[in-house]
Amino acid sequence: MDEVIKDLIALGKGLSITFRNMLQKPVTITYPENKRKFPARTRGRHVLHRYEDGRERCVGCLLCQGTCPAGAIYIEPAENTADNQVSAGERHAKVFDVDLLRCIYCGHCELACPTNAITLENNTAIAGYTRQSLLIHKEELLEPKGTATLGSTQAWDPKPPTPNAGEFDGSETSSAAVGQGNRPSRKPGAGH
Ligand code: SF4
Ligand code: SF4
Repeated sequence: MDEVIKDLIALGKGLSITFRNMLQKPVTITYPENKRKFPARTRGRHVLHRYEDGRERCVGCLLCQGTCPAGAIYIEPAENTADNQVSAGERHAKVFDVDLLRCIYCGHCELACPTNAITLENNTAIAGYTRQSLLIHKEELLEPKGTATLGSTQAWDPKPPTPNAGEFDGSETSSAAVGQGNRPSRKPGAGH
C-alpha cells in the first residue's frame, strides 16, 4: 500500500512539472518562418558596401585578403577607367570571393579595410548542399544598387564615418584618406 502511495506522489510531482511547463511561453521559435533578432555585433555573412552615388567602397587594395588568417578571401583587382569608375579609388575588385567554409568569422577583414567596404553582418543562415555553393562571389556579397549602408561598422566603431566623409579620391594613400579618417590612430606600442 505504501508503495502505491509513493508511486502516486511521484506521478503527481511529475505531472505537476508537465502542467506547469504547458502554461509557459515556449523558448523555441518556428524557424525559418520566424527568426531571432541577433545582436548588432553578430559576425555572420559578409557584405560589400557602396557609397551613396552607387560606386563600390572596395578599392581592391587586398588588405583584407592579406590579413585573413584562414585564406578565405580571393580578390582580383582591376583599374578603374574614365568611363568605368566602379569604385571611388584607382582600382576596384573585379573578382571578390569569400569561402564561407574556410572563414572563421574573426572580423579581421572588416578591421583591416580602410574604406569600410566589407563588414560581417547578422545573416547566420550559412548552409549549402555543396562546397561550391558556399564559395560566394562579389555579385552576392555586394549590397544592391541604390543601397548604401555602413552595416555593423556602426556597432563596432563609436564614431562611424559618415557616408560622404573621407571618401577616397585617389590622390592620397593613407588610411585616413580612404574612409577611416575619423578612427583615432593608435599610440605607438599600444597594441591592438
Ligand atoms: S572573418 Fe576572418 S576568416 Fe573570415 S574572411 Fe574575414 S578575416 Fe578571413
Ligand atoms: S580591405 Fe577593403 S578596400 Fe581593400 S580589398 Fe578588402 S574590402 Fe576592398
